[in-house]
Amino acid sequence: MKTAIERFLKYVSYDTESDEASASCPSTAKQRVLAEQLRQELIELGAADVRVSEFGYVFARIPSTMDETLADAGDGAQMAAGSVRQQYGGRTPVLGFIAHMDTSPALSGANVKPRIVQDYDGGDIVLNEEKQIVMKVADFSFLPGLKGEDLIVTDGTTLLGADDKAGIAEIMTMAEHLLTHPEIKHGEICIGFTPDEEIGRGADRFDVADFGADIAYTVDGGALGELEYENFNAASGKVTIHGVSIHPGSAKLKMKNALLIGMEFQSLLPTFENPMYTEGYEGFYHLDVMNGSVEEAQMDYIIRDHDRAKFEEKKRFFADAAAFLNRKYGEGTVVCEIRDSYYNMKEKIEPCMYLIDTAEAAMRACGVEPIVVPIRGGTDGARLSYMGLPCPNLCTGGYNYHGKYEFIPVGSLEKTTEILVEIAKRIAE
Ligand SMILES: [Zn+2]
Repeated sequence: MKTAIERFLKYVSYDTESDEASASCPSTAKQRVLAEQLRQELIELGAADVRVSEFGYVFARIPSTMDETLADAGDGAQMAAGSVRQQYGGRTPVLGFIAHMDTSPALSGANVKPRIVQDYDGGDIVLNEEKQIVMKVADFSFLPGLKGEDLIVTDGTTLLGADDKAGIAEIMTMAEHLLTHPEIKHGEICIGFTPDEEIGRGADRFDVADFGADIAYTVDGGALGELEYENFNAASGKVTIHGVSIHPGSAKLKMKNALLIGMEFQSLLPTFENPMYTEGYEGFYHLDVMNGSVEEAQMDYIIRDHDRAKFEEKKRFFADAAAFLNRKYGEGTVVCEIRDSYYNMKEKIEPCMYLIDTAEAAMRACGVEPIVVPIRGGTDGARLSYMGLPCPNLCTGGYNYHGKYEFIPVGSLEKTTEILVEIAKRIAE
């Protein structure tokens, strides 16, 4: 038997950074190397139907240990009205667990050198003596709360990859536990490892029917106890400004400076509806990229709100800003393309709230207090939920994703694994 920690340390040695510039799937061939490793390992564990799709998705199955036709499944007459099983025609729903193999292009994931800080003293952590890279309590005020834990940290030159190799290690270790303990009663369990989540494509080639689950959890969240089923409604806003460039010496009343019109566009948006000033359920407009010259400029925005009505309102306001500038500078000066990216999964989870109740109960049974928080972003689960697979997000136990300060407490890796086993049991009850 391997521990989740052993697995995790092995998986982070694979560089699986995804690449937004690539059109292929997986976006980087190196993700296939980890996919192959996971395929091998699942076969060795005795999982069923282990397969890797042409797009690099790793799927497998842990068969049910219940006899659905007999007492395990309960007597139909005794089945409580509205019980989980009743929603699925008297059978235990097939449960999925999903994690992603790639790491964020925000920082290199090559040559990760994880180090375990034993019995953390609650103070600043020197990640790299030579380069003087220090994780400071002044920057991360939650650190002293982890005093006494063993923390897996980086050497300050790469990310760690707990996002989401912690999720993979936890799911794998759960799988081994269930496969070596056939006396544990659980329904059929599907396992899925996806490529390219970090570049927003993890759900693109996810074959929900082939995966075979009725419901699932992504294991891709943060600190131990986090449980998420609300995410942003999201759109992209691409603004192109057509200016008129003329020699500045003879430009009076002739020049239209696309850069200045772009600045004016930004100034029309509500100042405080900006990522710098928002939290919780507050939405925003975020200017992500700005390029240009007098003749032409482009601005790439993202628009976010948890509330669908406010989201629609934000998109209207954004388009109105462009329309206003067109009235001022001439039709066609500002071209604005708004495209929806994904929606809040809440409306797809609400009909099966037992997913949340079960996860909360499982956490409490493992001595972890659940923390339900709205995601200020999206997850693959949000898109999968709209593809017919309701899919809230569970914690992995990690912190400070996508950067050199990423770390995960050893105890959180172990606890999350325990929680997954507990969920598998409870879904079948
Ligand atoms: Zn992730």
